[in-house]
Amino acid sequence: MTDSFTPQLLDGLDNVTVDTHTTFADVTSLRLGGRPRAFVRCSTPEAVVEVVRRLDDTATSWLIVGGGSNLVVADGELDLVAVAVENKEVSLGDDGLVRAGAGAVWDDVVAAAVERGFGGIECLSGIPGSAGATPVQNVGAYGTEISDVLTRVRLYERATGETRWVPASELELAYRYSNLKFTGRAVVLEIELQLTTDGLSAPLRFGQLAGKTGERRDVRAVREEVLGLRRKKGMVLDPAEHDTWSAGSFFTNPIVSAEVADRVRDSVRADRGDDDADRMPAWEVAGGIKLSAAWLIERAGFPRGYPGKRSPVRLSTKHTLALTNRGSATSEELANLARTIRNGVVSVFGVELVPEPVWIGMEF
Ligand SMILES: Cc1cc2nc3c(=O)[nH]c(=O)nc-3n(C[C@H](O)[C@H](O)[C@H](O)COP(=O)(O)OP(=O)(O)OC[C@H]3O[C@@H](n4cnc5c(N)ncnc54)[C@H](O)[C@@H]3O)c2cc1C
Repeated sequence: MTDSFTPQLLDGLDNVTVDTHTTFADVTSLRLGGRPRAFVRCSTPEAVVEVVRRLDDTATSWLIVGGGSNLVVADGELDLVAVAVENKEVSLGDDGLVRAGAGAVWDDVVAAAVERGFGGIECLSGIPGSAGATPVQNVGAYGTEISDVLTRVRLYERATGETRWVPASELELAYRYSNLKFTGRAVVLEIELQLTTDGLSAPLRFGQLAGKTGERRDVRAVREEVLGLRRKKGMVLDPAEHDTWSAGSFFTNPIVSAEVADRVRDSVRADRGDDDADRMPAWEVAGGIKLSAAWLIERAGFPRGYPGKRSPVRLSTKHTLALTNRGSATSEELANLARTIRNGVVSVFGVELVPEPVWIGMEF
């Protein structure tokens, strides 16, 4: 460690608390990860900015932490300061304009909007984590992405040291990506969304939801349905349910060329027959054909619950795409399972899966 950081660097700041005992296992949904040099909680945007400035001025490594639901963090002592963004205020205008502090719990924002009859984010019900993280990987579920409704974000930009509202169009939002992800170039302090106000959902775009594609339904009914579907898949956090001790979908759905998609289908046809091959999920998207990572993982020989009850890390018993900690795992064990699955899918299909969560202090 070459910087001059000590926790005293942050003494006397308003709306800031610092401790040196909180670990990432205490705050991540995987319940894994070691101890940062300090865990700093900031309850106002001004506090976040001041803390980050002081850490940058002393060349101290830091990581913004929201709800910890998209993080895979190494075990042991970590050479970084964790900065938790905890400004939580939410305002809902009569015109459907919603502003949320980055530290607001995302599902509380959805619940409040749905309660007011605002439409547009009901399909994003039950996604864990903070409002401020939603643009970072352009969260999405059930046919909706935050980019559908995000108008702008208030950012603290490290390069300039300035805070400004930035239009969503500057974030290069794409499937599970924005130019904020993996870069640490800016901190999201607030987000702004434009929702509809007529009590109806956004037009439905996902087959598993009741109703026809394009139909708009009662926003409250859609939220309840989405939460029900997510619970069945272990995709709503529940401390008593190890299938939810995960980072959600561990791999993104791979986007491949048409030739690769055909090759994968042919290989399934040869091994498993026409029925399975003809049902292979494949969607045309910008840049190629999107395949289902879960479908490939299962067909590469990794069923739900893999590798079995004795293992401290397993695929969820409800969803092949979630890697879970059964209570006593280490991050290294989780990483090894992730690598085994990636290598298996490469050797069977020649397709390389890419992890969705952000890895800290360890390599995939
Ligand atoms: C059970 C489960 C289900 C999930 N389902 C979905 C789903 O359906 N769709 C989906 O897209 N994701 C899903 N996820 C992943 C995760 O919930 C989302 O990515 C979420 O937005 C992460 O929010 P967070 O606050 O927990 O971020 P964290 O895990 O705390 O951080 C993730 C990354 O974002 C950065 N970050 C966080 N806050 C800020 C900020 N204010 N400014 C700048 N950078 C920031 C962090 O530095 C880190 O790099 C799921 C996760 C779990 C555990």
